[in-house]
Amino acid sequence: MPQQSKRVALCGVILESNAFSPVAREQDFRAALYMEGPEIVTEARQAVSRLPREMAAFVQAMDATGPWTPVPLLLTGCPPWGPIEGGFFARCVARIVAGLRAEAPLDGVYIANHGAMVATDDGDPDGTLMAAIREAVGTDAAMVTTLDLHANISARMVAATDAIIGYQTNPHVDQVQRGEEAALLMRQMFFGMRPRQALVRLPLVPPSTTLLTAAGPYGELIDYGQRRSRELAGDIVNVSVFGNFAFSDTPKNGLAVVVTARADGEKAAGLATEIAARAWQNRAAFRREMMTIGDAVDLAAAVANEPQRPAVIFSDAGDNPGGGGEGRTTWLLAALAAASASGVYYGAFFDPELAAEAHGLGEGAAFDAVFNRAGETEFCKRFEAKARVLRLSDGEMVGRLGIYRNRLMKLGPSAALEFGGTGGIIVIVISARQQTADPMFFEMFGLDIAQARSVCVKSRGHFRAGFAPWFPSGQVFEVDTAGLTSPVLERFQWRNLPRPVYPLDPDTTWTP
Ligand SMILES: [Zn+2]
Repeated sequence: MPQQSKRVALCGVILESNAFSPVAREQDFRAALYMEGPEIVTEARQAVSRLPREMAAFVQAMDATGPWTPVPLLLTGCPPWGPIEGGFFARCVARIVAGLRAEAPLDGVYIANHGAMVATDDGDPDGTLMAAIREAVGTDAAMVTTLDLHANISARMVAATDAIIGYQTNPHVDQVQRGEEAALLMRQMFFGMRPRQALVRLPLVPPSTTLLTAAGPYGELIDYGQRRSRELAGDIVNVSVFGNFAFSDTPKNGLAVVVTARADGEKAAGLATEIAARAWQNRAAFRREMMTIGDAVDLAAAVANEPQRPAVIFSDAGDNPGGGGEGRTTWLLAALAAASASGVYYGAFFDPELAAEAHGLGEGAAFDAVFNRAGETEFCKRFEAKARVLRLSDGEMVGRLGIYRNRLMKLGPSAALEFGGTGGIIVIVISARQQTADPMFFEMFGLDIAQARSVCVKSRGHFRAGFAPWFPSGQVFEVDTAGLTSPVLERFQWRNLPRPVYPLDPDTTWTP
């Protein structure tokens, strides 16, 4: 008997909140991504879309696996920033709940969230949204969510959902697989599977730089979870190991293991505890290693002077817009300029006023470039230097490598400025705050990454996927720059993290 067309609601409120960053307001979401109704499905079925890839993959996998009726409600998201403004979040929840009630009864709900959102008046808005959805659709509806591996998982999120599926890669390049996995799991639920989840969260808040997955303790832990999941495939359908996002500064922070069993909650709990115990045993491996700005400037000079040495890439790690950074700190740029560095590509600096001025002057114009004229903050200081407008762009491009691959990006009026004459420092200036995780940030100006001796990026980890063809891991360096995303956790005034927590409190204990 063919399965009847199941009705599945689609929604998401996507934000990674850095508690130390400015509030994410309604206009920030509307400028980045805000869609209601059928447009979500239309967009999801395009080859290149503005949607998070897991949503597009979920829709396409549902299309490919049988009849279904999508019930698109609301999908909104903004690049990582501060807490979401509480009134706007409440309106999003109300809109989704109203849609669910109007379309009742529903067979399923797919939620594409990030999972590390904080609201101005709520420490667990992801949990609030999921609980509200569960209340609206009842316990019979299948409820599956995909989350970023930087999510902070609350017991309420686990209780509200049937399955939480986390990314397995950092840089994040498996959103398509996770969206497909969510669709297949939902299909299995339509055939009668009733999954049970277990959560074990550790008092372990690793610095972001230790959460890469190609190598190191976190990658090994994820691999272990996947191996155990395969070995226990008769009982287990998903293992997700969430590294957490320290800067959200919430009581639910901490590395968290979520295991979904086909039917038996005790099997899920057993495996979650096993994986968590392994992480705890290996906690000392979650240490950061960073380069000082002075050493980075010296290395940039050395590779510029010795053409036979491989080129290098530097992460401006304290100012990653992908983690709530402002994208406009000048520490590394100013140090390179003071040292008259050469052969440097630096991107991308978020400064709409400077980009607009460059567009007004035109290509080839020489001028005194003033960074951060819009205002200074603790970390973003005024910086001025003689520059030439090398190239201009409208800032529209399609990402080609890594996390932005096939994503349409709108960076607004953008400029490539040259400092220190030909062969000096080329700085990309953009008008929409985004982390530089794709070579297109430079290539849209006709620049060739292979021509640079050093590349500096405002990205903490995701640039590794986008720039891998030029920079294998031995040529990648994380620079200890001050800013809202510094991996040096001791520098922050934590208010809500659970304490004691490792490694901030080295003597923290945990027993399964
Ligand atoms: Zn992430």
